[in-house]
Amino acid sequence: MTDAPHRARKRFGQNFLHDTHVIDRIVRAIDPRPGDALVEIGPGQGALTLPLLRAAGTLEAVEMDRDLVAPLTALAHHVGILRLHQEDALRFDFNRAWPGRDGLRVVGNLPYNISTPLIFHLLDHIPRIADMHFMLQREVVERMSAAPGSRIYGRLSVMVQYHCRVERLFPVPPGAFRPAPRVESALVRLTPLDPLPCPASDYQTFADLVRTAFGQRRKTLRNALRILVPAETFEWAGIDSGARAEQLAVDDFVRLANAVSGR
Ligand code: SAM
Repeated sequence: MTDAPHRARKRFGQNFLHDTHVIDRIVRAIDPRPGDALVEIGPGQGALTLPLLRAAGTLEAVEMDRDLVAPLTALAHHVGILRLHQEDALRFDFNRAWPGRDGLRVVGNLPYNISTPLIFHLLDHIPRIADMHFMLQREVVERMSAAPGSRIYGRLSVMVQYHCRVERLFPVPPGAFRPAPRVESALVRLTPLDPLPCPASDYQTFADLVRTAFGQRRKTLRNALRILVPAETFEWAGIDSGARAEQLAVDDFVRLANAVSGR
């Protein structure tokens, strides 16, 4: 007797990759090597998991949908060692993946509904991460790599670019997935910068400042940051308080945050 086929669940953002050319291209971009400390988010039905496992030998994965665990475990059985955590990746403590190892290589065709908070969650674990490859909504990849002055430049751009080099790899059309999503997708590679070119002396101050500035992005910095930044601190940092958040480059935000924390 065969089990009923899995019905893609919208609430889990399930759009499974089925185009073998696209899958090959993604795996080649990731370039998995034997012994790599791979972590996959949302392995689903294993479109990426199996070729990654074949190349690397062992893989840890975080999948929320419990109905996918048994079929995926069965598929992986003869291919390699799959350590599957049936959990919500947003709450998953990534310190539990590959304990004692650094250089994690994080990959995932992410559920689009949670991709931004998930990326923020992963930024908290950045010292252990060697690189990340994500399939995302194309618009999210564009926001991540946007330059100051652009309408789509925002908190995600600043926080990701503070930590990582961002490479837009290639677009992927809706037809590569089942069911096809309504939006275009793209693969992105994030490589943590080590050392950071422009480190904040107090990371929390920097993160708070960026969040607050973009929380009211239409206001001038003077008004949006009134509670966090005294008027004279803008001057010390050489930042025009009449500018708006989207006009500040990553290193401008760091300079302003360092002036606040060094006060
Ligand atoms: N990797 C598979 C592929 O490329 O065909 C599936 C990708 S599908 C876009 C997203 C996957 O993430 C699904 O398997 C879904 O069940 C899983 N998922 C959704 N929300 C999740 C969460 N919060 N934590 C972990 N996995 C989640």
